[in-house]
Amino acid sequence: MKQDGIPKTMKALVAYSASDYRYEEAYPVPACGADDILMKTEGCGICAGDLKCQHGAAMFWGDETQPSWVKPPFIPGHEFVGTIAAIGGNVKGFQVGDRIAVDQIAPCGECKFCKTGRYWMCQPHEIYGFFNEFCGGMAEYVRIPVKRSVVHNVPKELTLDQALCIEPYACSKHCIDRADIGSEDIVVLSGAGTLGLGMVTYARSRNPKLLIVMDMKDERLEKAKAFGADLVWNPSKMDVVAEIMKLTDGYGCDTYIEATGHPSSVTQGMSMIRKLGRFVEFSVFGAPTTLDWSIIGDRKELDVLGAHLSPYCFPYVIENIHSGKLKTDGIVSSMFELKDWEKAFEYASGKYGDFKVAFQF
Ligand SMILES: [Zn+2]
Ligand SMILES: [Zn+2]
Repeated sequence: MKQDGIPKTMKALVAYSASDYRYEEAYPVPACGADDILMKTEGCGICAGDLKCQHGAAMFWGDETQPSWVKPPFIPGHEFVGTIAAIGGNVKGFQVGDRIAVDQIAPCGECKFCKTGRYWMCQPHEIYGFFNEFCGGMAEYVRIPVKRSVVHNVPKELTLDQALCIEPYACSKHCIDRADIGSEDIVVLSGAGTLGLGMVTYARSRNPKLLIVMDMKDERLEKAKAFGADLVWNPSKMDVVAEIMKLTDGYGCDTYIEATGHPSSVTQGMSMIRKLGRFVEFSVFGAPTTLDWSIIGDRKELDVLGAHLSPYCFPYVIENIHSGKLKTDGIVSSMFELKDWEKAFEYASGKYGDFKVAFQF
């Protein structure tokens, strides 16, 4: 189809291999097919997954024990927002000029999970920003094959900062939904990075009896407090297990949500959770956790649940960021131009105290 007013080339960050990421000034703009949307990117957040991938982690590029998952060359970035620049003839329900965000997963529509509505666990598991066919938002344009995508309208009034919170907060919401927090629950959330803070602001709306947030960094705890935590504790400065026991007559917390990715946070949670409690694991770990599994069965009969991605969560998150019910102030802490991607990735590692680092186009 014709792509009026759309240039032939664009600025893009392209991953050719684990050790070969290149900023290119004149990468071809993807063609917009009959079933595609071509999105002009406004911004794209950098996810911890993008960093791990760029650092060559085996879960992306494979090793002796696992096959490679990514398909290069690809353009990274699944936390993008933008406007429709061109649209294929078969695409219904959207128009040029609409502002959109897209679920990170590109469901195949054919596997056992997709066919039963559990698209976020799609077996081939292709995610934007890691596959040649699903290039991501670290480029001026993104091709969105609509039949393989979950596309959402985004109100124009959202600031770019707010819009960049949509994807991470959708993942936060799914995790808190798994935790199924009730009004009598004493909830501990371990980890107050971007995703953890999204969990705090959403968990607040589920009205737990007490929402306690733990993190090793005080500036994150301050933000957690501002976003609705009742108590904020730094485990490097106090015995948090003893404090929970004091607070609960020795029973322990009802729910523990693990969002740090550190093995010590898992064992800490297993020590402070009450019998018949609920443990929700959200993180990706860099090292295995050693734990006496008899805690789960023999000693406490726990419900241990996982949470992955953000099924059916985008509409709620978009609506409630818009209404202000979900707080986003200060979450996007640094914005970069794409050409400064190396510096942006360095900031995204958190070493300067950032929450979410993003590219602006
Ligand atoms: Zn992400
Ligand atoms: Zn599928």
